[in-house]
Amino acid sequence: MKKNANGPRRDKTDLPEKICASCGLPFSWRKKWARTWDEIRYCSDRCRNARK
Ligand SMILES: [Zn+2]
Repeated sequence: MKKNANGPRRDKTDLPEKICASCGLPFSWRKKWARTWDEIRYCSDRCRNARK
């Protein structure tokens, strides 16, 4: 008999998000930021270098 798992939907978007201070778009946690996430303000190196 199959069990119908109808629990709360678990997306892989279960990660924290921030808004890029340069382009204003939301971006998600990345593994490479695991240690510096608190300091991350830009979605990419490009945005970090392109701040006006
Ligand atoms: Zn950006």
